[in-house]
Amino acid sequence: TAAAPLVEVNGIEVIYNHVILVLKGVSLSVPQGRIVALLGGNGAGKTTTLRAISNLLKGERGEVTKGGITLEGQRIENLSPAELVKRGVVQVMEGRHCFAHLTIEENLLTGSYTRSDRGEIAANLEKVYNYFPRLKTRRTSQAAYTSGGEQQMCAIGRALMSNPRMVLLDEPSMGLAPQIVDEVFHIVKDLNTKEGTTFLLAEQNTNMALKYADYGYIMESGRIVMDGEAQSLANNEDVKEFYLGVG
Ligand code: ATP
Repeated sequence: TAAAPLVEVNGIEVIYNHVILVLKGVSLSVPQGRIVALLGGNGAGKTTTLRAISNLLKGERGEVTKGGITLEGQRIENLSPAELVKRGVVQVMEGRHCFAHLTIEENLLTGSYTRSDRGEIAANLEKVYNYFPRLKTRRTSQAAYTSGGEQQMCAIGRALMSNPRMVLLDEPSMGLAPQIVDEVFHIVKDLNTKEGTTFLLAEQNTNMALKYADYGYIMESGRIVMDGEAQSLANNEDVKEFYLGVG
């Protein structure tokens, strides 16, 4: 189980608006080719941790004030989000954020902005449709008229258009029926197995996340309070008592 770490977060502190200390020394490791779940309740700091990795804190008036983040051993805190996409790290934000007035296919194509090779873009689109047959069926539909599940798939599909090595997925289950959550996670697992894509997924839905992840970290009030193999977390009595059945 000793896969090399792709991303490592080392003791980061994050402060919003110069005063609000939200992450109080968070460390975690995301091995190449794995699915890692970041768990915990509302406001625990999951989104902030993802934003720190993909460098999306600035827009939120947040900053990393201590610690560091590495991608294959190289510091990445000073890279722009666009630079990170070029290096293969892309975030799917909470709430899906599809462009409502664009079709599913147009939405997907906005994800290929870092590439210019038309053949490559077409091949990528086919690959996305392969994993998400629902999106192919809905390719000419305006996103606004598709279901929540389809919009979540669209958001993930758009991220995949940049051919990422690592996808940061923020709360993919939010607002979706359990059956659709299962469908989305199943595709994530499929991508992970067949393409080797690494995932860091923030979830309040502990049950579902641990069913598909390899490893999990549990956050509370800006700290990691527990971590372990997904299987052993799912069987842990404290986890069962405090987190399972939540979300
Ligand atoms: P959720 O599931 O609600 O997204 P989370 O675990 O992802 O929860 P965060 O969104 O990271 O948690 O929020 C952690 C804490 O940081 C919360 O107390 C939140 O109010 C605060 N926070 C988040 N974003 C900002 C911001 N832009 N400015 C100030 N405080 C913020």
